[in-house]
Amino acid sequence: MARGGVCKDVIESHPKFLRYDDMIIKTTSRATEKHSVPSNNGVYELLECPICTKLMYPPIHQCPNGHTLCSNCKLRVHDCCPTCHSELGNIRCLALEKVAESLELPCRHQTLGCHDIFPYYSKLKHEQNCRFRPYICPYAGSECSITGDIPNLVAHLKNDHNVDMHDGCTFNHRYVKSNPHEVENATWMLTVFNCYGKQFCLHFEAFHLGMAPVYISFLRYMGEDSEAKNFSYSLEVGGYGRKLTWQGVPRSIRDSHQKIRDSQDGLVIPRKLALFFSGGNRKELKLRVIGRIWKE
Ligand SMILES: [Zn+2]
Ligand SMILES: [Zn+2]
Ligand SMILES: [Zn+2]
Ligand SMILES: [Zn+2]
Repeated sequence: MARGGVCKDVIESHPKFLRYDDMIIKTTSRATEKHSVPSNNGVYELLECPICTKLMYPPIHQCPNGHTLCSNCKLRVHDCCPTCHSELGNIRCLALEKVAESLELPCRHQTLGCHDIFPYYSKLKHEQNCRFRPYICPYAGSECSITGDIPNLVAHLKNDHNVDMHDGCTFNHRYVKSNPHEVENATWMLTVFNCYGKQFCLHFEAFHLGMAPVYISFLRYMGEDSEAKNFSYSLEVGGYGRKLTWQGVPRSIRDSHQKIRDSQDGLVIPRKLALFFSGGNRKELKLRVIGRIWKE
């Protein structure tokens, strides 16, 4: 491609950017869409990348004719301005970067209950930690990408993962597994408890702690960590005059299931002991887990 020339069919391999004409239409129709955010005399719209419509952060780029685009899109359009087809080069739009610095905008989770206002550049960081941001589905053992608030996730666990729901702050659960030696095909079980008007996830699963096959059971709180700390729980497993007990503090579902498991923040039962508690011929896992949740 000649320097300063017009680049024609570079973008056609990108399904998202099939035709320049479409993009131009999209750009113009965008101006008529309503934003939930005050427009600050249109500056906010200027900060939306005309290609991917996400907000732009430094470095903001522009073509020699002044068409702006975000740094992600710049990488994808192979040095060709999607609006006027000029060669992009490496021109930064410092003026727009400075204007952005002066903006104050509401958190994007406003509709979920966050009413804070932030300078443009710290908004993104806040949103990543905003306590109103949606939660990720707490179900373990499958890659589930569903996000939402707690009532939605509870409904999702029940309807889409067929998770057992229990009312009450005490429980007495039996875990039965016919082939307990297959730790690789981990036994993931999840039960949701409805207690004090809040929801808790009780996890039970098999994994390898170093070389040793173990079972672990722990409780997660469906809400923020600051609230989780107001609760305690105990778990107890045993048989034949022996028992293991664990007392802990539920962890927020903001912490990944794997992180909690790997930190062993729960009742860890060596497989040998679990099979001893199971009785019989030790070929089958039959564990009774007794537990309680209370408010501190
Ligand atoms: Zn973009
Ligand atoms: Zn251009
Ligand atoms: Zn927020
Ligand atoms: Zn899910």
